[in-house]
Amino acid sequence: ASPTEHRLLAHLNPEQLAAVTLPAEPALILAGAGSGKTRVLTTRIAWLLSTGQVSPGGLMAVTFTNKAAKEMITRLGAMLPFNVRGMWIGTFHGLCNRFLRAHWKLANLPQSFQILDSGDQLSAVKRIIKAMNLDEERFVPKQVTWFIAGSKEDGLRPKDIEIRDGQTQKLAEIYQAYEDQCQREGVVDFGELMLRTYELMRDHAALREHYQQRFRHILVDEFQDTNKLQYLWLKIFAGHGTDSPSAVLAVGDDDQSIYAFRGAQVGNMADFEREFRVRHLVKLERNYRSFGHILDAANALISHNSRRLGKELRTEAGPGEPIRVYEATSDFADAQWLVEEAQQLHRAGTARSEIAVLYRSNAQSRVIESALFNAGVPYRVYGGLRFFERAEIKHALAYLRLVENPNDDTSFLRVVNFPARGIGARSVEQLQDAARSSARSLYQSVGAVGGAAGSKLGGFAKLVDGLREATRGLTLREIIEQMLETSGLVTFYRTEKEGQDRIENLEELVNAAEAFVTQEGFGKDAVALPVDETAPGTIAAARPGEPEAPAPVDLQPDAETGEIMSPLAAFLTHASLEAGDNQAQAGQDAIQLMTVHAAKGLEFDCVFITGLEEGLFPHENAVTSVNSSGADGLEEERRLMYVAITRARQRLYLSFCQTRMLHGQTRYNVKSRFLEELPEGGLKWITPRQQGFGSGYAQQYQQAWQRGSGLSGVVGAGRNSGWQPPAAPPPAWAAPVPAAMSQSAAKSAGHGLRSGQSVFHNKFGEGVILTLEGKGEDARAQINFGRHGTKWLALAVAKLTPIE
Ligand code: ATP
Ligand code: MG
Repeated sequence: ASPTEHRLLAHLNPEQLAAVTLPAEPALILAGAGSGKTRVLTTRIAWLLSTGQVSPGGLMAVTFTNKAAKEMITRLGAMLPFNVRGMWIGTFHGLCNRFLRAHWKLANLPQSFQILDSGDQLSAVKRIIKAMNLDEERFVPKQVTWFIAGSKEDGLRPKDIEIRDGQTQKLAEIYQAYEDQCQREGVVDFGELMLRTYELMRDHAALREHYQQRFRHILVDEFQDTNKLQYLWLKIFAGHGTDSPSAVLAVGDDDQSIYAFRGAQVGNMADFEREFRVRHLVKLERNYRSFGHILDAANALISHNSRRLGKELRTEAGPGEPIRVYEATSDFADAQWLVEEAQQLHRAGTARSEIAVLYRSNAQSRVIESALFNAGVPYRVYGGLRFFERAEIKHALAYLRLVENPNDDTSFLRVVNFPARGIGARSVEQLQDAARSSARSLYQSVGAVGGAAGSKLGGFAKLVDGLREATRGLTLREIIEQMLETSGLVTFYRTEKEGQDRIENLEELVNAAEAFVTQEGFGKDAVALPVDETAPGTIAAARPGEPEAPAPVDLQPDAETGEIMSPLAAFLTHASLEAGDNQAQAGQDAIQLMTVHAAKGLEFDCVFITGLEEGLFPHENAVTSVNSSGADGLEEERRLMYVAITRARQRLYLSFCQTRMLHGQTRYNVKSRFLEELPEGGLKWITPRQQGFGSGYAQQYQQAWQRGSGLSGVVGAGRNSGWQPPAAPPPAWAAPVPAAMSQSAAKSAGHGLRSGQSVFHNKFGEGVILTLEGKGEDARAQINFGRHGTKWLALAVAKLTPIE
């Protein structure tokens, strides 16, 4: 072997070495997490190139994410003495895009064709449904887009749709109209990238032969998550069925198949083995990533799944540290603990980028982000946006801003036609012209637009007015709930395929508000952290003992009247601050936050898996359902948990919360069954599990638990999920805030007032208390002063005399 080759192959075990140096024939590597599948794939590319068996243009590698593709190119660059940029390494969609850019004429596309995202796709479908005069109730736009996407994934064009009845007839017509429209506009959606590439290869012999000759080697990572069209695509590029098919190396792990809900077919592995007559089936059994306890936990967990191809995984790394399990009293306490623990790890020398926080649902990140934000710890959210930057949250905040100020044009524009109200771009332009010429806000100019457009705009203005009217005198939480309903946001997302996630986020907004209001020192968490001059643009952690920075949420009460900003206004300020620039800068060492799905293929020294609660992980939808492809939802959740556990190299933390704010209510949790499936010997419980508890509390918890709190599906399944009543009552903040404070609460708050009470204020006169919040110095009241309107007053400053 040449010195280069020798160096390349030095860090492989015998099985890996054999896989890397296999002859140019179809091969399947079927192996568990961390066994070096991706390393083998990358090294094989380097080996093929460095031994001259193939040129950089002669092979293609498919990865699952762009991040993985970039990493692979970087690693190859380091292994090889020549330029590897420009190689065909990327995701399926990325490679198709490249292919169609090269053959745009043949593909009948404009050279600069644009790619539609799912939002664009939906509005395109809506336009068609409208143009065809169809009923949106019968042809729900979202469902129509799934139909189109699903058809494309099955390789079906409109003419291939099996017409069974009037409904499918119409669906096929919409699909056709959608295609015509995309073609006219020169745009393609994601499904189209794949399908059009496939068809081009299928229908053009010369092109097909060219590529089949060109790519002598095709390597596919994460093969278990390919769908039907991707497999067909692969077959045609590989020249399956021709005299000289390419050497395809497929790499996968059936235990990490986590996209069945989107049509991925694990069966592709068996099909591949059969159809390509695979003679080289490689199993890698040694795990190089994790210590023993972590691996044992992963093995034990996944053994509960029934449909498996069967693999072993062992390590020679020794047991390592036990897995730490933390039982938090609440999600808030959990986040606090997590941040402290993470900082301790960091102080002890772990880079922040080697600390990952994984969660099942996006909405869970909010509480964690908030704790990290407050502690001034840089973090980055992967595969998703930070909470306050998510589209649905921005929409919701826009409605709230309009409640505060209807003349906020940016917010007006954001939601005037979201959810869709038939207000088109032309109407909005008309309105903008009117506003410009009279130098007034959009809201104020609604009356200046005539015709149908004018009446629709008027309808929106009425909605805003109505919302403002309806929320007068309500608490922040009630305002948000009212807004979610009146705006139609929740109803809208309910019809969306992946809308569940968005609804969870919207509900999380209610929790964010609740936490904001009940926090000690209302709004003080929104302090601007001092800027660290050594790192321009970044925010440094406020060190203990440093003077507190001024609060940008100005809660200074008016010295004379005691009037303060409304909680809504304060909350909106807080939200824009949190959405601001606390996200770590590029290149800055930051803690990594992501969903388990986004963590696939990655690894970290320390991993936190949070929210191990029944209904959350496993997710309640999965537990009760057998999904469309017939796969067992619970088994898919378990594979997800397997993926999560196997991301950790050295340290693994698992946590669950006795209580969690959900739907604005405190929900009492049952810990995840997955915790029960791990070997007890490898776990170290950080909070001792409670044995004895007062029967009073037990009863109280039991009742709360039985009331359901969103767990009915699980409880109803009759499984003994090992629920353990906590020993201590939940902290005060965890309880839902009562709409009106009780007398005793009023006393403990130190002002002796109660809601509903009449009071006298020396400037605003007589008023009635609507809401009371906070304690001591922070106590505040919302009071209706009749013609002076509703005011928020700081009780420490405002002089109020009870009247009764
Ligand atoms: P996953 O299923 O999670 O994608 P994988 O099978 O692709 O995992 P890799 O990411 O390739 O596993 O490897 C896991 C870790 O083990 C990596 O850090 C890799 O560098 C290391 N590793 C793999 N093989 C060896 C080896 N022979 N010697 C030392 N380290 C190795
Ligand atoms: Mg991998």
